[in-house]
Amino acid sequence: MKRYIAIFCLVIISTITFAQSKPYVILVSFDAFRWDYLNRGLSPNLEKIREEGVSALSLRPSFPSKTFPNHLSIITGMYPAHHGIILNNFTDPFDKTFYRMSDTNSVRDGRWYLGEAFWETAERQGIITASYFWPGSELKLSYRKPTYNQAYDHNRPYETRVDGVIDWLKLPSEKRPHFITLYCHETDTQGHNFGPDSPQTNEAIKRLDYIAGYLLKKVDEIKMKDSVNVIFVSDHGMTSISKERTINIENIVGSEKCKFYDMGPVMFVEPAKEKIKEVYDILKKNENHYKVYYRSEIPEYYHFNDHPFISSIVVIADLGWSAVSNYARKSEREEKGNHGYDNNQLDMHGIFLATGPSFKKNYHTGTLWNIDIYPLLCKIFDIYPRTNIDGKLDRIEFILNNN
Ligand code: AMP
Ligand code: ZN
Ligand code: ZN
Repeated sequence: MKRYIAIFCLVIISTITFAQSKPYVILVSFDAFRWDYLNRGLSPNLEKIREEGVSALSLRPSFPSKTFPNHLSIITGMYPAHHGIILNNFTDPFDKTFYRMSDTNSVRDGRWYLGEAFWETAERQGIITASYFWPGSELKLSYRKPTYNQAYDHNRPYETRVDGVIDWLKLPSEKRPHFITLYCHETDTQGHNFGPDSPQTNEAIKRLDYIAGYLLKKVDEIKMKDSVNVIFVSDHGMTSISKERTINIENIVGSEKCKFYDMGPVMFVEPAKEKIKEVYDILKKNENHYKVYYRSEIPEYYHFNDHPFISSIVVIADLGWSAVSNYARKSEREEKGNHGYDNNQLDMHGIFLATGPSFKKNYHTGTLWNIDIYPLLCKIFDIYPRTNIDGKLDRIEFILNNN
């Protein structure tokens, strides 16, 4: 009997020790927080992390530099053409079904998601995860979701979101998540409505910086400051646009010839099969403030041609220009800022800041790539990444304190 009690105690002690030695990571995304917003002197909390922890000059998004494609790139380590969420809204041309970021049914339908999110990788290897909002975190299949998640609610106050994260960290250790995501949209909304250089965007920067400080203060209050890593990222940046810098692609080719999907920085153009060359030739002849490509011709550095739902012809507008069709919603025509452009443009770059026991202190580096965050997380938790990813650990692991 005594022997059984001893073994039982040993198992309990080693389980607790293992649980305690496992790291904690909170991954925070501030939508469209451009890399250089940190230089405006409006974000004391984030600037403090920049000085004390790890800071990258910028975080390079994947192409197209839009919200859903990039949140999925961050969490899967794959380019959008590989994880399947190629735009915020797109169509399966074979069965004519739609993926729409505003449509709960489609964002929860696992058939669109071809990559493995970090929470899936982690849960399979014994790590409890949670998400206070993240694109792709609400799938109907329980094994593809974090243990704890929240249905997206755009209007939920940011403080409530942080409090939710803290409540998860206060759970008893056997139920407590070790990886948690958090998402806030403020800089995206104000950046679109008023432009990246507007007073409203400056207010959004201050608001999100306050939320960053609030999160760190709350983590400190529950005495977890020394054990929790916090990574602040953004999915992309923002650039100024204007009505004067608009190209009406439909007027150039004629609407009877093709269908147009999405607009702004990237437009999918799908002519009837026999018209593909004709439409391409017209767009090529008129190429001004945009580039037109056959799908197979899209430059290699975009990694954006090997997904069957990408249209036969793709138009990519120059930075700050918008490709539109005659169907352009009024709200879109009046926007002052946008993103989605060439991911090598600095205006499209976001932030990467990290603090906590796994990271070097006072360490500044150049631009990091968002597809490398997934292998970085796997390294922090010492778990196996999927082998089919695009991200590379050796491009990023030097920011960890044991490297
Ligand atoms: P974008 O059109 O790329 O600027 O998308 C930004 C918008 O994405 C924000 O205004 C959010 O409302 C929306 N969004 C972000 N995360 C989610 C989510 N998990 N579910 C639904 N919508 C989201
Ligand atoms: Zn975004
Ligand atoms: Zn946006």
